Amino acid sequence: MAETIIKVDLSKSAYDNDMIHNRWHPDIPMVATVKPGDDFIIECVDWTGGQIKNDDCADDVRDVDLTQVHFLSGPVGIEGAEPGDLLVVDILDIGAFPDSQWGFNGFFSKQNGGGFLTEHFPEAQKSIWDFNGMFTSSRHVPGVEFAGLIHPGLIGCLPSKEMLEEWNTREKALYDTEPDRIPALATLPYADTAHMGRMPADEAKVAAAEAARTVPPREHGGNCDIKDLSRGSKVYFPVYVKGGGLSVGDLHFSQGDGEITFCGAIEMAGWIHMRVNLIKGGMEKYAIKNPIFKPSPITPKYDDYLIFEGISVDEGGKQHYLDVHVAYRQACLNAIEYLTKFGYSKAQAYAILGCAPVQGHISGVVDIPNACATLWLPTKIFDFDINPGADGPNKELDGSIDIPLSKDK
Ligand code: ZN
Repeated sequence: MAETIIKVDLSKSAYDNDMIHNRWHPDIPMVATVKPGDDFIIECVDWTGGQIKNDDCADDVRDVDLTQVHFLSGPVGIEGAEPGDLLVVDILDIGAFPDSQWGFNGFFSKQNGGGFLTEHFPEAQKSIWDFNGMFTSSRHVPGVEFAGLIHPGLIGCLPSKEMLEEWNTREKALYDTEPDRIPALATLPYADTAHMGRMPADEAKVAAAEAARTVPPREHGGNCDIKDLSRGSKVYFPVYVKGGGLSVGDLHFSQGDGEITFCGAIEMAGWIHMRVNLIKGGMEKYAIKNPIFKPSPITPKYDDYLIFEGISVDEGGKQHYLDVHVAYRQACLNAIEYLTKFGYSKAQAYAILGCAPVQGHISGVVDIPNACATLWLPTKIFDFDINPGADGPNKELDGSIDIPLSKDK
């Protein structure tokens, strides 16, 4: 049995656990050391550190403190790892805790976080998903059940000092182009709620003011939210500091491509079993700038899809030039409108796209002026036929069930 090298207690604050941190900084001390070839288990709180509860009220999503996220377990040092190496991580298994067999999905209020479709869903909403072994279903979204494609939303190594400076410089420059924007253009360093792990208090005070927030994915991987980085996959991470400093968190039971609802996938606390190895000098040997990975040999087998197209013409009819973001948004909106014809509320349809193993594809980026994106909705996650037919939509869902909504204060 592999050793559990980082433990969490869900009844306590993540700030009380010095094997957890919520910022990226090269000087965050390693909390454990492993050798190449070792396998080990790391426990994780959910990305918000327990701010979201298993209940039928979305006030916690509305009022969430997003400056606290993401709570990560680590960093773990790997003996012999040096800048320029590749850290090879086998994700051997992931699971929820036996006494915490549930996860949440929500839409942040536009005033506090927003999301991909925040103009259409400006208020906070939340659905709870129960885990039934390898499957999940929600009391707030009838008619769907699917197998979990379980994965860490966030995993990566500590940045070097130079890399951190580069992140801060470029993100601040973007932020400054529209500093009053809601939601903001970037999440800048914020010392007040930083948790710097085992860093001594005086040192942490200085470092927290420049430590990078965990929200965006960056060169080291980080918050990539790739659903296919699931158990059984093998990831190659660039190493930037001595020891590597591997941290992980934001475990997802399942997620659709894009994590469009932002709060988030099906978010959960749990454990991850990993094995590490090194490829010395691997970054240069293989010209690696961002992580690469191999998919799992085991994935839920959904091979029938209803596929929605979207082009880069926005909701107001405005033409955009090869804008994949606009095109994918249209594909998602088209899928949502379609699902409402079967009795789903728009919020339920949005939650399905955020939670289920939905695929998103960039289908065309050269046919000026329109990019084409497609959203692949697996048909077998529904317990009724969602295909179009001559008789029209064939199922009326119980309209009394919906996703809890909390109005802005
Ligand atoms: Zn997440």
